[in-house]
Amino acid sequence: MIASITYVKEVLGDLKAKKKFGQNFLIDANTVDKIARDACSSELKTIEIGPGLGALTEMLLKYSKSVDAYEIDRDMYELLKQGIDDERLSVYLGDFLDVDLSIYQESVNVCANLPYYVTTPILFKLFESGLDIKKISVMVQKEVGDRLNAKVGSEDYSALSVEVQYLYDVKLEMNVSRKVFYPMPNVDSAVISFTPKRERDYDFERGFFEFVKNCFRMRRKTLHNNLKDLYDKETIERVYEDCGLKEQVRAQELDLDAFLKIYEVIRK
Ligand code: SAM
Repeated sequence: MIASITYVKEVLGDLKAKKKFGQNFLIDANTVDKIARDACSSELKTIEIGPGLGALTEMLLKYSKSVDAYEIDRDMYELLKQGIDDERLSVYLGDFLDVDLSIYQESVNVCANLPYYVTTPILFKLFESGLDIKKISVMVQKEVGDRLNAKVGSEDYSALSVEVQYLYDVKLEMNVSRKVFYPMPNVDSAVISFTPKRERDYDFERGFFEFVKNCFRMRRKTLHNNLKDLYDKETIERVYEDCGLKEQVRAQELDLDAFLKIYEVIRK
């Protein structure tokens, strides 16, 4: 069993977990089994990002058709290839941000236990990849999870939250204690999943997401102030009237349906 303190210490030997790659290894088999069970399906390939020594990889193989794992660190890449002997596993060395995802023509699931500094760019890469992803499950620091799942009106609610809510049903799958990692990080984590909720329309999305970003451009300002340089006076008056908006409303008070309605009126 790879997810155990004995295995991790033994295989690392003189190697140290590398901070620059955000290496904290899962050492609790029950936690890993549950993450993998929720993330995969037996008829689909799972793409894993950052397999490390393979704690999660081993369980993903148990619940998936096959696993493609992308690891940035050569030491981990070598240890993983030695550690798991399964022809359904392909391990690739490199930064996942550089991977050309158009090689995947089939539907896939994605699962990752990521360092915090790379979580957002990797998620955006996945969201915008055009890949047919049935489910994305990511382990993130608890705070990052709160931000991704932020509700209207909260401090963390942003253009990113609106985009995510437009594209996905977001679910907090489980909270994960810092105690199940070696070395132990300073914060607890959470597994968040994203399941697509609509057919993709990339042309519409490009325009809509840019519009939402503009609405949040200056957070402290009213929606009116953020829009007034981008649209003519008549358009803005029509938006406020048709959408029943209050004069002083700010972007962070508007839910997804409100943004969709405003965008529809603007495009009329
Ligand atoms: N999955 C393992 C586990 O749960 O025990 C390791 C998780 S560790 C938090 C993150 C892993 O991601 C490390 O193995 C690290 O080297 C790898 N990594 C970091 N940045 C990466 C990137 N941009 N592309 C691919 N792998 C990356």
